[in-house]
Amino acid sequence: MEKSATEVSINGAKLSIIQGDITRQATDAIVNAANSGLMGGGGVDGAIHRAGGPAILEECKQVVSRQGRLPTGKAVITTGGNLKAKFVIHTVGPVWHGGSKGEPELLASAYRESLKVATENNLSSISFPSISTGAYGYPVAEAAKVAMNTVVSFLKEGVTSIKEIVFVLFDSTTFHAYSSALGEMAREAEQA
Ligand code: ADP
Repeated sequence: MEKSATEVSINGAKLSIIQGDITRQATDAIVNAANSGLMGGGGVDGAIHRAGGPAILEECKQVVSRQGRLPTGKAVITTGGNLKAKFVIHTVGPVWHGGSKGEPELLASAYRESLKVATENNLSSISFPSISTGAYGYPVAEAAKVAMNTVVSFLKEGVTSIKEIVFVLFDSTTFHAYSSALGEMAREAEQA
């Protein structure tokens, strides 16, 4: 029987998954699965810019003129504009090329760098979408494991202001993949 989980607690921080629209989340920051040009686009990126308004793109342009395109696996923070979330953390996940081009490391880096930026800004809550599993083609079951392992290790290290991490998954297939990955983590934790 498959065990499904929606919430675990790690080092006093809550990690949960929900199915929904990340643009409606009221965490301190929401994470955008952006592309290196930071000019908006389709998928969750387009949804965030539409819901948050032009102030986000304005800051993205400033970031690019200051430091150039955002490399894969890195993250930057901007205002949340009209969103409930005060900030948007933009990160770039890898495009899937079959899995032997460093995709797992780059995906882990996108999560970790986003958490680092949130910590540097003393934020206490953050929402993530399923980075790279839309247009970038990363297989969702694999991506879910990388996502869960990375955020759990980060919380276990304990050097963070973050008290709440929410994965906001748009469709039920993605939600179930993350639920399995979280269930797997919870089982391992019980056995440890
Ligand atoms: P990438 O280019 O990193 O693959 P996409 O935006 O194409 O990013 O897809 C990433 C995930 O975000 C997909 O699972 C997609 O269904 C999901 N997504 C799209 N819109 C939203 C939204 N409003 N809230 C949360 N997730 C969303």
